[in-house]
Amino acid sequence: MSGSLAIAGLGPGAESLITPEVSAALAAATVVLGYGPYVARIAPRPGLRLIPSDNREELERARHALELAAGGERVVVVSSGDPGVFAMAAAIFEAVEAAPEFADLDISVLPGITAMLAAAAALGAPLGHDFCAINLSDNLKPWDLIEKRLRLAAEADFAMAFYNPRSRARPEGFARVLEILREACGPERLISFARAVTTPDQHLLTVTLAEARPAMADMRTVVLLGNSATRRVGRWLLTPRSA
Ligand code: SAH
Repeated sequence: MSGSLAIAGLGPGAESLITPEVSAALAAATVVLGYGPYVARIAPRPGLRLIPSDNREELERARHALELAAGGERVVVVSSGDPGVFAMAAAIFEAVEAAPEFADLDISVLPGITAMLAAAAALGAPLGHDFCAINLSDNLKPWDLIEKRLRLAAEADFAMAFYNPRSRARPEGFARVLEILREACGPERLISFARAVTTPDQHLLTVTLAEARPAMADMRTVVLLGNSATRRVGRWLLTPRSA
């Protein structure tokens, strides 16, 4: 008997932002795998095995999930936010590519609300027109590529969302990002730091690039940069539809 594998997004934090589809998959699951803090969000119950792992073990986790599904389990792999945004969906399909015997498994990707959209909603409409999302972690890609994408996105005047802005392993990287942005976008550009969005720890801060400091971001922060037309409207941010 073959099982199934759902790659599910738990949203940014609030229970109310977990989709009914994801709740149904979790209710039917026999095994849940994921990064420890995400698995900790799943209520234990009889008949459900919880398998937390470290966040650097994504390919092994993917492989393990595929093996469990092939063995008949109803497996759910959980990510925060959306599983397709800097998360487990790509890792699972990389593992399937490397082990094509899993390609016929019953695999589904269940979307979730990603951090940048929850943050944008809390701030108004900072991503109200064209924007891009950049992962600032250089765990899996060279730092030069991050700098290149920052400069070209600034030249194209995209609003931008930055994930994984800062880690203890790379304290200097985000300071460099702010330098590049100041050079490319000027000191008056608006930048927002949205921390732990939709949780009781939520904190929102909008400043200019001249005022921005690396310590304003940590690993629970998604950073949104306006484009050249982004402005304040009362306590909200607006990137107009014409920009
Ligand atoms: N798949 C997730 C992103 C995983 S990468 C998603 O779609 O949201 C992890 C990064 O996401 C963090 O470093 C942070 O930049 C961002 N993030 C995740 N949850 C967040 C939240 N509640 N508030 C602010 N940023 C968050």
